[in-house]
Amino acid sequence: MDNNESLLTGDFSEEVDGRENPLRPKLLDDFQGQKTLKENLSIYIQAARGRKEPLDHLFLAGPPGLGKTTLAGIMANEMDAELKVTSAPALEKPKDLAGIMTTITEGTIFFIDEIHRLKPALEEMLYIAMEDFEIDWVIGQGPSARTIRIPVPPFTLIGATTKAGQVASPLYSRFGIAVRIELYSPEELKSIIRRSAGILEIEINEESVGILAECSRGTPRVANRLLRRMRDFAQVLNNGKITNSVIHEGLGRMEIDHLGLEKLDREILRVIIENYDGGPVGAETLAISIGEAVESLEDFYEPYLIQRGFINRTPRGRTVTHLAYKHMNILLPQGKEGENEDQRLLF
Ligand code: ADP
Repeated sequence: MDNNESLLTGDFSEEVDGRENPLRPKLLDDFQGQKTLKENLSIYIQAARGRKEPLDHLFLAGPPGLGKTTLAGIMANEMDAELKVTSAPALEKPKDLAGIMTTITEGTIFFIDEIHRLKPALEEMLYIAMEDFEIDWVIGQGPSARTIRIPVPPFTLIGATTKAGQVASPLYSRFGIAVRIELYSPEELKSIIRRSAGILEIEINEESVGILAECSRGTPRVANRLLRRMRDFAQVLNNGKITNSVIHEGLGRMEIDHLGLEKLDREILRVIIENYDGGPVGAETLAISIGEAVESLEDFYEPYLIQRGFINRTPRGRTVTHLAYKHMNILLPQGKEGENEDQRLLF
């Protein structure tokens, strides 16, 4: 129980590259979009505060970059609570988790990212902590080993995952609030870009905001990243002002198309069409074919391609839709015209 501080992946004021920080909303009011989710969370916060109780445990599922970590910070700020942030892969042994649990104070918000990767022994420890606010601790070894129960002050666990389906049901069922965050609409992304441009003092016109929003893959992190890159292009090529032509130039150089598809997205579509006759092809095989890890294929690339209606996930694997052939400028092979009628263009 000695090195728990190093297992906490930051006190939340820091980010991996130290950059996203000023753009991260601190309060629920600053969190753009996701209206229903925000309204509900606001009620849960008010109710818990009214009762002077910690918030119920909260489960957040959804693709990366949609604001799960941000929400954990917001919940801590709104509850005036301490925040502890870690991620399941950083927790190797029960003592790693116990080390953090013993530093928890009343009302602490304990955020565990990638909670689907928690080891079974740690999961078990967490069940008891979540439900009874105690942890089991084994002292000694062999026949003389005995278990003592250490009390933990009432706290709130926020578990985040990109893979809700991989979370063991006993763990999942102990969360009082479970939320799935969906990809953002272009309108929601526009307000994120406007807000970020204001904070970073970037000059950008409304039409350019709209173009960037369309290319942000429904993801705030991508929207902020694109805005920063466009600021670079604008600074060097256009005296700092982001205009439509700067964006077209910038996106072209970054090989991002008008729907926000990156080179690898197009490679995914091309491989399914050309190597697998439109699919179905399994995720593992597809990942190998494009030289990516299956996690990044499933977590980052696929959700947007599915939302845009370019690919379908079927029990037998991934298939492309007619829209994908059209987007890639590849002629639909004969005999495929009648297939997959349910083309969904959700935006
Ligand atoms: P996740 O934990 O889901 O991967 P993060 O919480 O790290 O995502 O969010 C990535 C970045 O996107 C944050 O730093 C923040 O700047 C921005 N962001 C996410 N959601 C929102 C939102 N609803 N409004 C404004 N900015 C957001």
